[in-house]
Amino acid sequence: MSERPLSVHKLGGTSLGDAERIVRAARLLAGASRRRRVVAVASAMGGATDLLLRAAHEAERGRLRPALRSVAELRSRHEAAAAGIAAATGASVDFGLAPFVELETALSGIALLRERTPRVTDLVASFGERLSVPLLAAALEATGVPARAVDARTFLVTDAAHGAATCDRRRTDPKARRLLGRLLAEGVVPVVTGFVGRTPSGETTTLGRSGSDTTAALLGAALGAREVVIWTDVDGVMTADPRIVPWARLLPRLSYREAAEMTYFGAKVLHFPAVLPAVAARIPLVIRSSFAPDGPGTTISEKGDPRPGIRAVTAVSGLCLLSLDGKGMTGVPGIAARVFQTTARLGVSVVMFSQASSEQNIAIVLPEADRARTAAALVQEFRYEKLVGAIDGVAAKSPIAVVAAVGDGMRGTVGIAAKVFAAVARAGVNVESIAQGSSECNISFAVDEKDRLAAVRALHEAVAS
Ligand code: ADP
Ligand code: ASP
Ligand code: MG
Repeated sequence: MSERPLSVHKLGGTSLGDAERIVRAARLLAGASRRRRVVAVASAMGGATDLLLRAAHEAERGRLRPALRSVAELRSRHEAAAAGIAAATGASVDFGLAPFVELETALSGIALLRERTPRVTDLVASFGERLSVPLLAAALEATGVPARAVDARTFLVTDAAHGAATCDRRRTDPKARRLLGRLLAEGVVPVVTGFVGRTPSGETTTLGRSGSDTTAALLGAALGAREVVIWTDVDGVMTADPRIVPWARLLPRLSYREAAEMTYFGAKVLHFPAVLPAVAARIPLVIRSSFAPDGPGTTISEKGDPRPGIRAVTAVSGLCLLSLDGKGMTGVPGIAARVFQTTARLGVSVVMFSQASSEQNIAIVLPEADRARTAAALVQEFRYEKLVGAIDGVAAKSPIAVVAAVGDGMRGTVGIAAKVFAAVARAGVNVESIAQGSSECNISFAVDEKDRLAAVRALHEAVAS
């Protein structure tokens, strides 16, 4: 008999918020496992990662007592969830003391040194998923489906870019196939920690906030899954973030490119790097609500929606705009290249770049957290040009948000840019800087953070229905 096809199912933090939701998530997995072989990927319980990172910050300031209070809170939340799951299903979970002692030791180390390295931050952050996975596995077992909690650090190897690590697929894929393949062959559903991995030398890493989506996509690609289902708290990908535009509509279909553009420009519903393994392996990503599991959801695949126009609007906050101005820049080759060399050297990711056609202005938009060091490095880089008066200097502006209109159907459609900027102008929003990628699948522009909401809502009016 040929093997049943495989699906990877990822449960987000909101879908694992408390005992009741974990039991509901387990039932969803049990239903799915009747039709297909299933690998589950779990996020931390909603809010757990935030709590852990807050504890690490407290410890860094030498405030160990509040940090340890957070550990106690984390422990009681998980123990309450375990008790709730036991009451509902009869399953029993015992975390033991070990994880809490390890966490307290890490926090004590941070407090002692008053130093929080990216490495220890990742170790602290990893506990959310390490504690949620035994709960989901136990709840699933209680439905009669054999399940096993799996720590992804046993197979998921990454580089050492703590806080935003990248998976080494060459090392990871064979290990994942061996380890998870063995469990699947025994009819067991592996319940894997999302978000976490380890370096080749064994240090704990994380894939970046929301990284469990990426773990799921990586496993889908490694195991040749038929689909990767992301269970979350919204019906699917909407025409805008429903928290900002409550009247946003569900998008039943999106292309990988549209999903990549949307998630890169702030659509939190999916982690941007999750799109990459899915595209490479041509595996559809399906976004669905664990609160309304019978809904159609959004299928992200090669085939988007062929209709013309803007598909969705997104926004990213927490940014700043650095600009280089000066009449002496006109016709001088290599200025843009030197700006990018500078940001690349610092490892700063540039969200948006624009150059006026007069060549008298270059603007880059980057995370606010990188503003000071990037501005200082640019001043240093262009000190000669400043001295001879070719540039006026480096100006900074924040807080800035980037708003983007996304859609494959924008390509080759006449008048899209006019429509976008007319909508924004009607809302009285001043546009600081504009960029259009060569793909024409995205028009993005920077606005003052205070105008973000108005810009998104105004632009949403122009979304094709
Ligand atoms: P999870 O805990 O399931 O990973 P997230 O909070 O990471 O959930 O992602 C879901 C959230 O993404 C939604 O609650 C919604 O506010 C936000 N979001 C942002 N943009 C969009 C969009 N275009 N469509 C749907 N949700 C979006
Ligand atoms: N728990 C992690 C976070 O809160 C990863 C995830 O939820 O995907 O960012
Ligand atoms: Mg998420």
